[in-house]
This record gives sequence, structure tokens and C-alpha cells, in this order.
Amino acid sequence: MTSPALKALLLDLDDTLLGNPMKTFIPAYFRALTEFVTEIQPPERLIEQLLIATRMMDGGDGVGPSNGEIFAEAFFAGLGVPREELEPVFERFYAEAFPKLRPLTARRPAAPKIVEWAGQRGLQVAIATNPVFPRTAIEQRMEWAAVGVDRFEYAHVTSYENSHATKARPAYYREILDVLGRGPEECLMVGDNWNWDIVNAAEIGMPGYWIADPSSPPPSAGSLPVGQGSLDDFFDAARSGALEESLAVRTSQRLAG
Ligand SMILES: [Mg+2]
Repeated sequence: MTSPALKALLLDLDDTLLGNPMKTFIPAYFRALTEFVTEIQPPERLIEQLLIATRMMDGGDGVGPSNGEIFAEAFFAGLGVPREELEPVFERFYAEAFPKLRPLTARRPAAPKIVEWAGQRGLQVAIATNPVFPRTAIEQRMEWAAVGVDRFEYAHVTSYENSHATKARPAYYREILDVLGRGPEECLMVGDNWNWDIVNAAEIGMPGYWIADPSSPPPSAGSLPVGQGSLDDFFDAARSGALEESLAVRTSQRLAG
């Protein structure tokens, strides 16, 4: 029996394709957002509602309402301002203020090379970033990473409009498989977050490559990734063929076991 070859590459965005530590980015993002809407909404209330609505999205099961719908319902319902009034302000925020967060992020030169390599190799490429942001916030960060949607062809980009689960649940990966029309063993998830990117993908049988210091011990047993290292290390493994060898070994072990 031949092992199913790699057909699709799922790439996380923040701290995978784009240097963007969430510890600095999220507070700066919240600050920028509250400053932007300060005349309409006091900051404390807004942040509280943002946190509540963001947490609500983690409850999505992949078949119910979209993350964006879950967010809107929780967020606007909790504020005393009509949705029709606040939504255009948010749109302006993403057009005018969000782009100013770019200096907090850092390009990783390997990112566009990997997407280009995958395209030449005939793989479907999906940007598998946690879909708790609207599409514009994701497309802008892709652009910052030099892997913009105008530059490469993508089979899928998860955003809160088109996703019905977050990375907090394996259902997120099941939904991607449906969109790609692939089985889990034909895909590889590449990401830095152990639970979100590696464990929850493995939960549905999808192998992962962990973007982490090669000496970091895996935080939990089981669901071992097929590889571990920097984005440069991943690219080296991909183009040398070492990655596909590891995937083939993984598959034959599974078939034997
Ligand atoms: Mg990440």
C-alpha cells in the first residue's frame, strides 16, 4: 500500500509566517481599538465585551453559526449601542488604525518562499490562522508577511466570516478538510501553538510541524509532530524532501500499528 502523499499545506500566520508575539500585539490592538471608538464607548466596557465575545467564539462546534455571527451577537448585545452604529466604526478602524500596528510585527524571509514552493509543488495552500478576526485583519497581516492574497493563490484562508469553530477545537480542522476536499493524512499543519496547531490537528489525524526551538520539549505526551524547528528549518526540510520522508514514515507506522 502506498502512503498518501502530501496534498495540502496548512500554515498558521502569527509567529509562524509572521513574527507577531500575541503578548504585545493583542494589548496594542485593544488599545488602538478602544482609542478609536472612545467617543461612542467607554474603554473598560468595550474591552470587557470584546473578551467575552472572543471567548464565546471558542464554543463554536463547526456546524452552528459562524464565528463572526457568534461574536456579533455576544458583543453588540452587551453594549448599549446599536450594531448599525458601531459596525461602520469598526470597519473604519480596520481601514485606518489597524494598518498602524504593522511595526509590531516582523517579516520572516522564509514565508513567501514556502508558499511559492508549495505552489510549485502543486500543493493546496491554506492560511490556517485562528479565525477570531474579520477577513481584512487577516489579509492585512498576510500582506505584512509578504504572502498577500494578491501574490499567491490560496485554497482557503480561515477568517471569522467563513469559520464555525476556532483553533480551540478540532472541529476547526474538520471544517478546513471539508473545504479542501482532503483527508487529514493528506495535509500538514504548520504552527507555533502546541495545543491549537499541533494537538487539535492531531486529534483528527492530521500531522503537524511545530514551529518552536528545536530543543523545546513537547509540552504534552502523544501527538508528536513530524518535525520541530524555526520557519527556516521547516523550509529546509520541505525542499530537501526530508519532510515528506518523515510523513511517509509516520504513515507506514500508522498502517503497521
Ligand atoms: Mg501562531
